[in-house]
This record gives sequence, C-alpha cells and structure tokens, in this order.
Amino acid sequence: MQPLVITLVYGLSMAFGVFWVLSDHRLRGLRERALRFSREARQYAGEVQDLYEHASCGYHSLDAEGREVRMNRTELDWLGHRADEVIERRRYRDFVTPETHAAFDDAFRQVLGEGQEGSAECELLCRDGTRLPVAIQATAYVTRDGFQYSRATVFDLSERKALEARLEKQALTDPLTGLGNRRYLVDQATMEIARAERSGTPLALIVIDLDHFKRINDAHGHDVGDRVLQAFAELARRVLRDGDVLCRMGGEEFAVLLPNTNREQALQVAERLRATIAATPARLGETSEEGSLAYTASLGVTLVCAGEATLKPAIKRADRGLYAAKETGRNRVRWQGA
Ligand code: GH3
Ligand code: MG
Ligand code: MG
Repeated sequence: MQPLVITLVYGLSMAFGVFWVLSDHRLRGLRERALRFSREARQYAGEVQDLYEHASCGYHSLDAEGREVRMNRTELDWLGHRADEVIERRRYRDFVTPETHAAFDDAFRQVLGEGQEGSAECELLCRDGTRLPVAIQATAYVTRDGFQYSRATVFDLSERKALEARLEKQALTDPLTGLGNRRYLVDQATMEIARAERSGTPLALIVIDLDHFKRINDAHGHDVGDRVLQAFAELARRVLRDGDVLCRMGGEEFAVLLPNTNREQALQVAERLRATIAATPARLGETSEEGSLAYTASLGVTLVCAGEATLKPAIKRADRGLYAAKETGRNRVRWQGA
C-alpha cells in the first residue's frame, strides 16, 4: 500500500511540476506576445501620427462652430502658427481671406448639412502676410449623437495657380517681342473702355505699321526682320507712358491704347513715335559691328467714341488713318475721326 501511495504522490508531483513549468512557459510566451503587440501598436500609431502630421497636404478638424479641434503640422507650418495658438482657440474661417469667405462658408454649411461633405477653393492668410491658394475637401464625422467634427484635407494650389498664370500670360504674350498680343489688347480694352466711361476721360488708339517691311525681309533675311520688330518694341516701350497699352497685333502691325489722352495729345505721342523710329536705326546685334538698319513706320490715330462697347470701330477708324498715311507717302501720322 505504502509504495503505491508514494508512487502516486511522486507521480502527481511530477505531473504538477511539468504542468507548472509548461504553464509558466506559456504565460511567459503570452506575456512576450502581448508586449510585442503593444510595441508594434505603439510604433504603428507613431507612424500614422507621423503621416498625419507631416503629410504633403494639410489636415484639420473643426467643431460645429468652425473652431479648430485638430490641425496637422504641415498646415500649421503653412499658416505660420503653433498648435497651442490655434487648437480650441481660433476659428478656421479667421485664416480664410475675406474674398474667399463665401466659398468657405458654403462648403462648411454643406459639411454640417445632410450631404455631410463639402469642398471649396479658398485662399489662406498666412502669418507672414502671404496668401496661399488651397483646395479644401471635408466630410463630417457623425455618430448616433450627431455631428462630432469635420475632417478636412487641404491641398496647396500655389504651384497649379502659378502654372495657370504662366500659361495665361503666355496666351496673351507675343513671344518674339514680349509685348501683349491682340487678345491682350481686347482684354485691356474692355477694362479701359469701362474706366474711361466711368471717369469721363478720353481714350485714344494709335495703330502702327512698319513701312516696306517685306523689303527688309527680302533684302536682309527674316532674322533681321525679326530683330527690327524687337527693336521697334523696345523703342516704343521707351517712348510710351507706363499706363499705355502697347501690343503686337500680328506681323509688323502694332497698336497702342492711351488712357486719359485726347486728340491733340494722341497726335503728339504718335508724332513722337514716328520721329523717334525714323531717327533710331534698329541695332542688329549686341555689338556695333553687327550694324544697324534704318526703318520707318506709318501711324493712324483715333479716339474711342462714347457708346462704343468694344475697340472694333476704333480699330477700323485708326486703320483708315493708317491707310491714308501709307497712301500719302508712308513715315507719317494721320488722324481719323468718327
Ligand atoms: P507697307 O509699307 O505697305 O506696310 O508694306 P509692307 O511690306 O510692310 O507690308 P506687307 O503687308 O506687304 O508685308 C508685311 C511683311 O511682314 C510680310 C511678312 O512676311 C512680314 N512679317 C510678318 N510677320 C513677321 C515676323 O514675325 N517676322 C518677320 N521677319 N517678318 C514678318
Ligand atoms: Mg502690315
Ligand atoms: Mg507694313
């Protein structure tokens, strides 16, 4: 009996020992796995936080009153503010330029409304006074208790806007002379005609056509012709006032719109242009060895009449004056009234 009890006790204690070792081993394994998971979770959360803070776009969240509840570092850096100056303290609308308030308000109303999302193109006012064009896309975070906060992504549009401005400028510029083209003149004319009407001041137009330009090309080559066109543009820029709108209409034809200029003044400007052109041969290169070439121009002058909504009738009149200048010997100025 006794050996049996001893064997039983021995067996039990062995089994318990093995169980204890095994369960301790299992517990330790579990503990290690839990630690690893929490380390990984912390690391993952850190990475997500890092992505949020330093994304190439701005992120922010607003409460129902439009106050900041969160804003990532990227957007804070754009605005030039610290988080503690903004979070729970400022309304996002304060950073939007007055000109784009309406677009922002509209989008925010939509986020708070049934659709729960809205987008707007706005300009942000940065601390250093610069304005940053942005596109904002926002959605509402809503629970059973209703609207909690908005979540917005903000894209920096400055590069796109700069490219658009460059393309727009290109579309309005003559590449050879750097002057505005015909479209530019039409754009400017719309503004200048309205301004002249408002202020009751006269608006004059001069059209200019270089004389016998075909001969210049034929005798000296197209490149020399191009150089003469450039020389004319430089000279006319010098002779004219800042507010005058000089453009290349095409070929060897140019036009100048002169705000606040009456008939006598316009004729004086045209005569000064004519005389300066005739007295200033175009330099054909950087050095004097490359020579220069004398040329002349004919000019037609008119005024934009009251009630004329576009420049078209004035261009027609000035062209008639120009034609008369050509007919009567070139290198001269002719007035053409209504
Ligand atoms: P007019 O005194 O009657 O104005 O005679 P013109 O020879 O100046 O007039 P015409 O219209 O017969 O010729 C204009 C010439 O201008 C013809 C064209 O080849 C030339 N031309 C137009 N655009 C350019 C350009 O960009 N570069 C050069 N080099 N020539 C041009
Ligand atoms: Mg011509
Ligand atoms: Mg010509």
